[in-house]
Amino acid sequence: MSALKKSLSMKQSDLDLLLSHAEEDLPFESVSLLFGNETESGFHATRAVHMNNTLRSKTQFRIDPEELYSLLLAAERDNEELVGIFHSHPAPPFPSSSDISNMRLNPVVWIIASNLTGSWIYRGYILDNGKIHNVELVIL
Ligand SMILES: [Zn+2]
Repeated sequence: MSALKKSLSMKQSDLDLLLSHAEEDLPFESVSLLFGNETESGFHATRAVHMNNTLRSKTQFRIDPEELYSLLLAAERDNEELVGIFHSHPAPPFPSSSDISNMRLNPVVWIIASNLTGSWIYRGYILDNGKIHNVELVIL
């Protein structure tokens, strides 16, 4: 059994984009996808794509499945993979029960951001063997 990879790297400029979209999408949950590659050292996100939360909900998000499918096809063509799913919460940045169900279906790094105090905080998680692990977010 290989060791669990516990880091995801991304550029500061991509993180800034994720958080500025999250700010613009308030009061609804914001969602973005991170594409890149997985190596022995961890996950490396090289591109962030802001998505439309089709639910326009404060407590849930959904992505149009056709939009997701075409992004996944394009990523495969470019030798990229989906490495992370970013979304924002009106609550502290911990996975909700529906997040945990979705983590089972999408076993990538889940980044959850929240802004309860006027500034954004964010945490990374991955589900492995039914357990949630913290993922270190490395900002380049
Ligand atoms: Zn959530």
